[in-house]
Amino acid sequence: MNLTFSPEEQAFREEVRQFLSDSLPEDIRERVRLGRHLRADDHLRWQNILSERGWLAANWPVEHGGPGWGPVQRHIFDEECAAAHAPTVVPFGVNMVAPVIMKFGSVAQQQHYLPRILDNQDWWCQGYSEPGAGSDLAGLATRAVRDGDHYVVNGQKTWTTLGQHANMMFCLVRTDPQAKKQAGISFLLIDMQTPGITVRPIITLDGAHEVNEVFLDNVRVPVENRVGDEGQGWTCAKFLLTHERTGIAGLGHAKQALRHLKSLASRMQHRGKPLLALPSFRQRVIKAELELMALEVTNLRVIAASREGGVPGAESSLLKVRGSELRQELSELTRRALGPAALPFFPEFLHGDDTLEDTAAQSAAASAQYFNRRKLSIYGGANEIQKSIVAKTILGM
Ligand SMILES: Cc1cc2nc3c(=O)[nH]c(=O)nc-3n(C[C@H](O)[C@H](O)[C@H](O)COP(=O)(O)OP(=O)(O)OC[C@H]3O[C@@H](n4cnc5c(N)ncnc54)[C@H](O)[C@@H]3O)c2cc1C
Repeated sequence: MNLTFSPEEQAFREEVRQFLSDSLPEDIRERVRLGRHLRADDHLRWQNILSERGWLAANWPVEHGGPGWGPVQRHIFDEECAAAHAPTVVPFGVNMVAPVIMKFGSVAQQQHYLPRILDNQDWWCQGYSEPGAGSDLAGLATRAVRDGDHYVVNGQKTWTTLGQHANMMFCLVRTDPQAKKQAGISFLLIDMQTPGITVRPIITLDGAHEVNEVFLDNVRVPVENRVGDEGQGWTCAKFLLTHERTGIAGLGHAKQALRHLKSLASRMQHRGKPLLALPSFRQRVIKAELELMALEVTNLRVIAASREGGVPGAESSLLKVRGSELRQELSELTRRALGPAALPFFPEFLHGDDTLEDTAAQSAAASAQYFNRRKLSIYGGANEIQKSIVAKTILGM
């Protein structure tokens, strides 16, 4: 497989690099570099800059206001953003619900919601998972009962990422409990200000407030906020998940983490020599680097296929499994490279204490990131489930 970047693609890479160097605010870059928790305002500030440049909706077609990039440009953009320590764009509006609205939404929904996503007026969250419905998503129990021109929604969603900032939630609800599991589900767009919605934080192992529980108690949602027909929610849900997994390999982030690890391991000393010279440690770093190269080639193969008109399908599951395992291994090695220095946990640093020196700051983030990266093999569909998809669809087992 030989995928080389064309001169135009190289020029595009330079353009992205220049833009990042000119436009990414230094304080935000520094927070991302040091692994600190980002504030809502950090995301919004950066996303407004991207929006002004016309680069927020990287996967949107031109007719809806996207840049019209192909998969190679999107890959280059993601890689350069990670290398420059830019925040990841919050995906729920621009990358998840927007493609669903474009494909299944009414013209009125498209005209109302898409421009608001493009200029960051709405912050979306994803109301899929429930306490009893994760891998078995079609088993969801949140109930929506028709009452005139409204649905009355009752139930609970969980693991709702950044729901504390969201003013809109796309939500899977059961509209027909008699129908076959998948057939009884509908896709609603819910205003988070509606009476009856309660958002409660779940604090994760790293001390972060990233996920939430969302309780819906007699929440009235206008019928016009349903996307697609009643009972068509599962089709929308599956379509959205293919978009959720695109780019989930996190290749740019893995490359950045490897660069950081190598630099750290050449500075940290073990019995008077750089840690990177220690054969047992060096071997694990080399193995991770080789696996990263293999993952990159696989990723480029998937990109090459979509450049020629193919659609990435089960391959995105493969990229998700290997990408998440690799990023977990890199966070494990980083924690080991720092040794005892990675043990102390300073939540106040992660929230913004600026008094620590650079190495101490990186130590403070290492344990938190190690714990935070556990999520990678769970969200977006747990790795065990992805392996089953690969076994069935690619290996024909
Ligand atoms: C940090 C984080 C953020 C998230 N953000 C969101 C969000 O914003 N919105 C949202 O809706 N959801 C979100 N999720 C939920 C996520 O999608 C689910 O956690 C995931 O789908 C797994 O579901 P579960 O947690 O219920 O685990 P379960 O489905 O209960 O699975 C538990 C374990 O059993 C394994 N297992 C289950 N079924 C099978 C099977 N058939 N074969 C083999 N193994 C199996 C799983 O792989 C897993 O290891 C988030 C999760 C995390 C951790």
